[in-house]
Amino acid sequence: MSDRRLSCVIAGGGPGGMVLGYLLARSGASVTVLEEHRDFDRDFRGDSLHPYTLELFWRLGLVDELLALPHHRARFFRFNTPAGAITTADYGKLPTRFNYVALMPQARFLDFLAAELARSAAPVRTGCKVSDLCYDETGKVTGIVYRDSAGTHRLTADLVVAADGRFSKVRRAAGMEAVSLGACTDLLWFRLPKQDSDPPDADVDLFFGRNHYLALLAGPAGWQIGYSLPKGGYPAAREAGVSPIRDLLAERIPWLADRAHLLETFSQTTLLSVDIARLRRWWRPGLLLLGDAAHVISPVGGNGILMAIQDAVTAANHLAPALRGPGPVPDAVLAAVQAEREPAIRAVQAQQVRTEQRVATARETGRPITPPGLLRLVTLLPGVRRRAANANAYGPHPPVLDTGLLCRDHRA
Ligand SMILES: Cc1cc2nc3c(=O)[nH]c(=O)nc-3n(C[C@H](O)[C@H](O)[C@H](O)COP(=O)(O)OP(=O)(O)OC[C@H]3O[C@@H](n4cnc5c(N)ncnc54)[C@H](O)[C@@H]3O)c2cc1C
Repeated sequence: MSDRRLSCVIAGGGPGGMVLGYLLARSGASVTVLEEHRDFDRDFRGDSLHPYTLELFWRLGLVDELLALPHHRARFFRFNTPAGAITTADYGKLPTRFNYVALMPQARFLDFLAAELARSAAPVRTGCKVSDLCYDETGKVTGIVYRDSAGTHRLTADLVVAADGRFSKVRRAAGMEAVSLGACTDLLWFRLPKQDSDPPDADVDLFFGRNHYLALLAGPAGWQIGYSLPKGGYPAAREAGVSPIRDLLAERIPWLADRAHLLETFSQTTLLSVDIARLRRWWRPGLLLLGDAAHVISPVGGNGILMAIQDAVTAANHLAPALRGPGPVPDAVLAAVQAEREPAIRAVQAQQVRTEQRVATARETGRPITPPGLLRLVTLLPGVRRRAANANAYGPHPPVLDTGLLCRDHRA
């Protein structure tokens, strides 16, 4: 076992951990991000970079390079029902240069952040799986235990941040339990190729069928499609095979019907078990949890990455000054991060729970899954689509990065 002291060690190199690591490195803190996987290649993990995120990267002087990577600019969010399409959000109406959601493969986004962290002298350590926490005699967290190909190691730090996702190992090691708020849906994800003849304005679209819905996401390389299942419905769906999915595709998205046969087996799909959950307390002395480790967001609103990044911005605003001071990060600083972010998370999750309940009620009563009846009329009112886009683009209570904390040039 080796032992080395750092100001901050972050478990997990997802969007939350990487953005926090980068911001702390730019603030001059000594920080290390440990990621269990050897690379960032991951599929179907959410690819949405919201206007908030793009504006953040603009403030950091990184947006041009980020947007030089392949991505699709989504302007609309639409519900497509048998009675026609309802545009619920129009990002094009937002008063920002970044008036779209950039759909960029998450792996490329994380590769980009890893390269920036390496330039900031805080390279991400991949292939390092955090397995436990270290404590002092008072019970305060003083570091982590991790494993890599060379063995088991210990890192001590003024602060441990758990950004290791929905199945957080650190959360379990700390004996903290997230309370589930209930989800009734699972999603099967798969891809189909794009063709030049595809509708140019298909962006982020939901297509409602009788018992299932399809989520269609544009991407630089093809279409990503989610097929909803009742929670726990995977074995039955697998038994039924891909035909019902192909049939719904052909019925609800006719311009994709010519490619439905490319979905041949279930092995081309990935199951996402949807969850909505949160911790009562996001911290204990010496430890802060953020992103999915503190609160699991359903992918239905497409804002899990945004919430994790906003947690990271709030955490950086509070932690960067605290890590400059002598000694450990005071509990009050950790509590302040939760106090600032929790109202936004509660608001987002409340909306997601309402959506889940709507779907559950439709299933129980045998009615088709559809958006609320008045939605079509409401979205025709002036300003409604812009306001909906604004709410999704920035989330409730978006934190503003204190750029004064960035003392280090990002290319130093
Ligand atoms: C299938 C799927 C589809 C989704 N779709 C969307 C979407 O369209 N839009 C959207 O915004 N959100 C979506 N989400 C949610 C979004 O991915 C998460 O909310 C977001 O990634 C949370 O970021 P995070 O940094 O908190 O955690 P994560 O992205 O989960 O990152 C956690 C990281 O920690 C690493 N890790 C885990 N355990 C350890 C350990 N013991 N030691 C070291 N490292 C560890 C993991 O490998 C991972 O890299 C989706 C999620 C899933 C699962």
